Amino acid sequence: MSNKKINIRDLSIDDIDNIIISLEEKAFRSKQIIDWIWNKGIDSFDKMKNIPAKILNNLKENYCINQIKIIQHQKSTDGTEKFLFESVDNFFFEGVLIKSKNRITACISTQIGCALACKFCESGKNGFERNLSIGEIFDQILLMNKQCVENNTKISNIVIMGMGEPLLNYDNVINFINHITSKYSYGFSPARITLSTVGIVPQIKKIADNNLKINMAISLHTVNNNKRNLIMPINKKYNLEQLKEAIKYYYKKTGNRITYEYLMLKNINDSLSDAIALAEFTKISPCKINIIEYNEVSDCLYKQAEKEKLNIFYEYLFSKNLIVNIRKSKGTDINAACGQLAKKNK
Ligand code: SF4
Repeated sequence: MSNKKINIRDLSIDDIDNIIISLEEKAFRSKQIIDWIWNKGIDSFDKMKNIPAKILNNLKENYCINQIKIIQHQKSTDGTEKFLFESVDNFFFEGVLIKSKNRITACISTQIGCALACKFCESGKNGFERNLSIGEIFDQILLMNKQCVENNTKISNIVIMGMGEPLLNYDNVINFINHITSKYSYGFSPARITLSTVGIVPQIKKIADNNLKINMAISLHTVNNNKRNLIMPINKKYNLEQLKEAIKYYYKKTGNRITYEYLMLKNINDSLSDAIALAEFTKISPCKINIIEYNEVSDCLYKQAEKEKLNIFYEYLFSKNLIVNIRKSKGTDINAACGQLAKKNK
């Protein structure tokens, strides 16, 4: 690898188009390059058999092909698989494959560490290192899908919910989505992609303006500002009133139903009055609520809510005709469940 060369896997579709324009070559050449680099996942420019020498020489001169690698692969007793990846500059991050009856969902990371320090989350414990590049986000899908293909399956859904806040790495995440949904790459349906955010208000509006057609999930966890300030410090910057406005804007622009993620924490947000307040909050637009069982992480203040309280909470929301699911934790035995992905060393 040459340090002076740019990793081609970190380029956007527009960047590839611009290379071809600058070389005064035909537009279809950029589609061919996208097919080789992002669909076939090649590791050497010499494998690009249908690309003329003039383009190939330019690519070899200015770009390299770097790829993250899998350095650990763990399997849970429930079928969940966790992958520890290493970047070219020796950072470590994780991705997870979650299997259910008719789908294989890949949960991917967008940052190394996280600056937002939600109190219930392992990922935010040791601070923020850096954003993942377009290629590093894409490679998680590429490598995990290779494992699936070996077992005659493939990834059917993507959740951008691993380590990091995706909307704080906006450009790389959007360019990743553009690549993965491109028909010259994976041709993945945006309807099968869900981006989860704690509620970065300006970027939620930007997603709405860009009309990306992906699903949006908000990690809500409580609709009380005082409680949310305590468990999610980002609420001090973008409070629930601002978040409400952004959700209304998003719905008006896209017509898409929002999903709310609600992590149930014992004696924090698990009372009937919390459920009543949540039902009131969610009246702003059509929605789905996922109640998530909390996975206790090391040295954490919080405990899993009691089953009885969780059921009362669920029944209340259900009685209000809300679409509500209880999400069972998967992969807890390998620390692959929600909030358990951590920035770690080998
Ligand atoms: S929940 Fe998400 S935003 Fe909060 S600390 Fe964890 S990774 Fe960061």
